[in-house]
Amino acid sequence: MASSTLSSFLRRSLTELRDRGLYQQIDSLEGPNGPVISMRGRSFVNLSSNNYLGLATDSRLAEAAVEATVRYGVGSGAVRTINGTLALHAELEEKLAAFKGTEAAVAYPSGFNCNMAAISAVMDAGDAILSDELNHASIIDGCRLSKANVIRYRHSDMDDLRAKAREARESGRYAKIMAITDGVFSMDGDIARLPDIADIAEEYDLITYVDDAHGSGVLGGGAGTVKHFGLTDRIDLQIGTLSKAVGVVGGYVAGTRDLADWLKARSRPFLFSTSLPPGAVAASIAAIGLVAGSPELLGRLWDNAEYLQRGLRELGYALGPTETPITPCLVGDEEMTQRLSASLYEKGVYARAIVFPTVPRGAGRIRNMPTAGHTKEMLDLALAAYGEAGRELGLIP
Ligand code: PMP
Repeated sequence: MASSTLSSFLRRSLTELRDRGLYQQIDSLEGPNGPVISMRGRSFVNLSSNNYLGLATDSRLAEAAVEATVRYGVGSGAVRTINGTLALHAELEEKLAAFKGTEAAVAYPSGFNCNMAAISAVMDAGDAILSDELNHASIIDGCRLSKANVIRYRHSDMDDLRAKAREARESGRYAKIMAITDGVFSMDGDIARLPDIADIAEEYDLITYVDDAHGSGVLGGGAGTVKHFGLTDRIDLQIGTLSKAVGVVGGYVAGTRDLADWLKARSRPFLFSTSLPPGAVAASIAAIGLVAGSPELLGRLWDNAEYLQRGLRELGYALGPTETPITPCLVGDEEMTQRLSASLYEKGVYARAIVFPTVPRGAGRIRNMPTAGHTKEMLDLALAAYGEAGRELGLIP
C-alpha cells in the first residue's frame, strides 16, 4: 500500500498543477516524428520536434542503425570504462571532434547527461560558475551537482557578466571560475554573445563552456555557434546533443585531448552509465557525415524558418528575440497558451504549449520548430490555422 504521506502530497500537488493549467498531457505518436505526424487516427503538421534537418526519419540513418544492430547487437553491454566501448564509439568521437574542429570529443548517453558529467568533473566546491539566468535545466542541475558557487547573470547582459566576473576574481575566494551559457537559447531562439563572453573570459581568466544543443547542425555551416563566431580556440568546453539536428540520441563534450582524458577518468555518467547502443552510434556517425556534407539541408531549414517567421509576424504574433529557426509565439498567460495550442490541434497543427516550469510563470508560449523536412504547403496550412485560431481567441487583429 502506498505511503499516506506520499499519496496526499501527490494528490495535492497534482490538483494544484491542473488547477493552474500547468499540467501537461503527454501525447503518443502513432508513427515517425516527421514533418507530419499521426495521433489518435488523425494527421497533423508537426511544429514541435527538434528534428531540425529531418534526419530522425531519414532512411540512410535507419539503414546504418539496422546494420550496426545486426552486427553488434541491440545493447553495448556495459559502461564505457568496463567493456562497453566498441570501436564504433571511438569512431563517433573522432568524427565529432573533426566536426567541431577540436582535438577530442567524448560521447554520453544524452545531452542532459553531458552537463551533469562535464560541469561536475571540472568544477568543485571552492570554484564559482557564472551562469546565464536562462540556461537550460541540465546546466542548472549540472552546476548544482558540482557544489561550486553559482552566480547567475542577467540574460545575455555582458555588463552584468563582466561585473560579476570582476567581483568573483577580485574576491580571491575561488580557485577556478567558469562562464557557462547556452549557445542558442532553447526557448527564445536568441544566440549567446560568445565574442563578448570570450573577451570577458580572457580578461578575468574564466573557463568557457557553451551548451550548443540548438546550434549544432543549425549554425556555423552545421558545426555550431562557436564555429559561427570563429571562436573554436577560445571556448574550452563545447557540449552538443545527438538528439536534435543529428536526429538520434546521445550527447558529447568537445575540447582538448586532456579534457577528454579527464572526463573519461572522472565524469560519473561516463563511468557509471551504460554506453550508447551500437545502432544509435552508427546512425549518429552517418548523420554527422550528412550534416557536414549537405549544405542544402541547412539551406532548407533556414528557408523554412524565415518563411514561417515572416508569416507569423505578418499575422500579428510576437516572436521575441529569435535569431534562429526556434520560433516562439509568445502568449504569456498559461491557460490562453493551452487554448491556442488546442485550437491549432483542432485545425490539424501540432504545436505544443510551453509553460512553467520549462519557462518562467506567465511566459507561456508555443514554440514552433520548422525543419528542413517541411514543405511550403505544410507551413501554409500551419499559418492559416494560426490566423484563424489567433483571431478566434482575440490574440491577433
Ligand atoms: N541542453 C540544451 C540547451 C537543450 O535544449 C537540451 C534538450 N532539451 C539538452 C541540453 C538535453 O539534451 P538531450 O535531449 O540530448 O538530453
